Amino acid sequence: MTTDKRALQTALLEWYTENKRDLPWRKTKNPYYIWVSEVMLQQTQVDTVIPYYERFITRFPTMHDLARAPEEEVLKAWEGLGYYSRARNLQQGVREVVEKYGARIPDDHEQLLKVKGVGPYTAGAIMSIAYNRAVPAVDGNVMRVAARLFRIAEDIAKAKTRRLIENVIAEYIPEDGASDFNQAVMELGALICKPKNPRCEVCPLAFCCRAKAAGEQELYPVKTRKAGKKSLHYAVAVVCDEMGRVLIRKRPDDGLLAGLWEFPMVLLESGENGAEQVSAYFEQTYGCRPSLTPTETTLTHVFSHLTWRLDVFLGRVGAEDVVFKSARDRLETKEDLKRYAFSAPHQKIRRLFLDQ
Ligand code: SF4
Repeated sequence: MTTDKRALQTALLEWYTENKRDLPWRKTKNPYYIWVSEVMLQQTQVDTVIPYYERFITRFPTMHDLARAPEEEVLKAWEGLGYYSRARNLQQGVREVVEKYGARIPDDHEQLLKVKGVGPYTAGAIMSIAYNRAVPAVDGNVMRVAARLFRIAEDIAKAKTRRLIENVIAEYIPEDGASDFNQAVMELGALICKPKNPRCEVCPLAFCCRAKAAGEQELYPVKTRKAGKKSLHYAVAVVCDEMGRVLIRKRPDDGLLAGLWEFPMVLLESGENGAEQVSAYFEQTYGCRPSLTPTETTLTHVFSHLTWRLDVFLGRVGAEDVVFKSARDRLETKEDLKRYAFSAPHQKIRRLFLDQ
């Protein structure tokens, strides 16, 4: 089966014109806004991203605004979106563009790839969507569509398969229509060529899809299985003093959820008693033992590689009891807690137990 390039482009672009969703970042060619939207859309659903995107560009309308904002404020605007290293890298990349390129995002592909936090996908998206340059932008959706269309049986978890698919897609990008073409392939992956039960009966590319011709749509893309997720069990302590202030701490500056705020929590080994472990932790860290009450609440939070199970305890200490040894620990009123960027599971705990 050969693929007629012109027929594929025409069918795809006509379908896109008629079916594309009305998304806020599609109303702009501002490369900074495209950059923000593409970073937010990595690993996050479109519906979730829309309000975050709108608030973010209202809060940081120019690259100068984002570059000079304190990191805490950027994390706060990102609170709940997850994968916080994305926000940090975005801000660092924007700072680099402000300092090195006078706040003009390079329209040279090689130069753009050197900017902090800009990988092949983001660079391709900015080059094509904002600057209409014929550069592929290959994300998970595009890999799936291409693997099916061309029956590519290589493992898409491998970097060389991504490069292979970039090369295949590059062949089909129209010289003067890269912006719409790349977005059309992504949109087709999101709306029609879904991971499960692709809607081939309404697909504009069904006429040239090799996987469909072979009746093997569900066999593509080929992806090696990752090892099972690790599961960690924690006891979380929401501890107030007599003045109603709540004890919080800041996570380390690197690693998972770096720099975000949370209630103290202790990793439990199998069979360990949560209340006892929390008490011992408080004694060692804050020089006091809170009176603790278990709650019925156990939250599960799933990361890409890890699951947390969190048993929540409520506790009380005297106003003078807590001795801080680190500037990363604070006592704050419930109202003031809202100013802090919490990780998603701890945000949930804050809402459940402290928001009235
Ligand atoms: S025909 Fe089916 S498998 Fe092929 S691209 Fe369209 S939706 Fe995907």
